[in-house]
Amino acid sequence: MKFSAVSPYNAASAPKLPDKITIYDSTLRDGEQMPGVHFTPEQKVSIATKLDEVGVHQIEAGFPAVSDEEKRTVRQVAKLGLDADVICLARTLPADIEAAAACDVDMVLLFIATSEIHLNYKLKMTREEVVGRVTSSLDYAHALGLKASLSTEDSTRSDMGFLLDVYRVSEKSHAARLGITDTLGCAGPPAISYIVRRVREATKAPISAHLHNDFGLAMANSIAALSNGAEAITTTVGGIGERAGNVPLEQFVMALKHLYKRDLGIKTEEMSELSKMVFSYAKLPVPSNQPWVGANAFSHEAGIHVAAVLNCPMTYECVDPEEVGNKRRLVFGKHSGTALVKTRLDEWKLSATQDQICEIVRGIKHAGEDHGRVSDYEFWKIVRDVLDLKTEKPQNVEEE
Ligand code: MN
Repeated sequence: MKFSAVSPYNAASAPKLPDKITIYDSTLRDGEQMPGVHFTPEQKVSIATKLDEVGVHQIEAGFPAVSDEEKRTVRQVAKLGLDADVICLARTLPADIEAAAACDVDMVLLFIATSEIHLNYKLKMTREEVVGRVTSSLDYAHALGLKASLSTEDSTRSDMGFLLDVYRVSEKSHAARLGITDTLGCAGPPAISYIVRRVREATKAPISAHLHNDFGLAMANSIAALSNGAEAITTTVGGIGERAGNVPLEQFVMALKHLYKRDLGIKTEEMSELSKMVFSYAKLPVPSNQPWVGANAFSHEAGIHVAAVLNCPMTYECVDPEEVGNKRRLVFGKHSGTALVKTRLDEWKLSATQDQICEIVRGIKHAGEDHGRVSDYEFWKIVRDVLDLKTEKPQNVEEE
């Protein structure tokens, strides 16, 4: 059996995915709706430019009705001349649609809730009124020369008959895309599969899915949606967004590329940089355990792992860190073994007896149990003491 980077069984019951898969990234809109996050107009322009450079297909630049600043920023992003289509969000209200038209976007995403609870407690509208609004808003957008899609908010808790009625009416009014929305992230893959399939059977327009991560299933749901006829998925960088957030762009791209063998043409080697940019603007650290782009995504501490990785990285890494712009980190801590100690000593051209190496490892474990991570500088100090060195620290070790 030859070595395989990812599980060879991924192909065992691989779903059929659509020929064309579109990422519409909403870092600038849903991402910014993460409580406490605000991007300045300049930051939004930088993020949009970077998303375009990375190769994202569509960028949801904002919700112009929110404020004059938001409107100006969406317009500014639309005028950047990006390869990506620039889209924006709008309620099914004339003023919102006019604001979108004034921004010169490539498409407006109209949305209206369809669940009974939203109709009763938020919109205070009847089903007939919702259907009327869908038709009139799509007609109005077209009259203003705007391409428009129609998303049903809280789709996954909506009555199926009504949901399909809304999509059929939208299609008749020439909606460019029909958006299924798991607003509360409360549907699992079977529900998403079922809903997408029903919409696919009832209509012909392209289907998109906007999926939240409240149960931690947004990623799995995105694959379920694609497997059943959706062709566009909302992502955000790092999965930021309301509450538990959205489908993370990096995870979506990498899962499709490696587990489903679908390369979406995204420059994955720029993803760590993109993630750093967005999280720093959001004034948040990139979570260390964030897949692909987190500091720990390619970090190894356990002695057994480190020894194996030093022999062959594929023992504990299924993707080369460079592919996502990240790097491998071999770190010291309570789980350390001798392999990394020997490697570092070799790098520093230091020799030690087996007993001294064991003493160094004991020192590392002791420090690790005391305070967790053991920095390279701390490691150097342990080495210096055990080997009784009088020399300066090696150049590649930062003092703390
Ligand atoms: Mn959302």
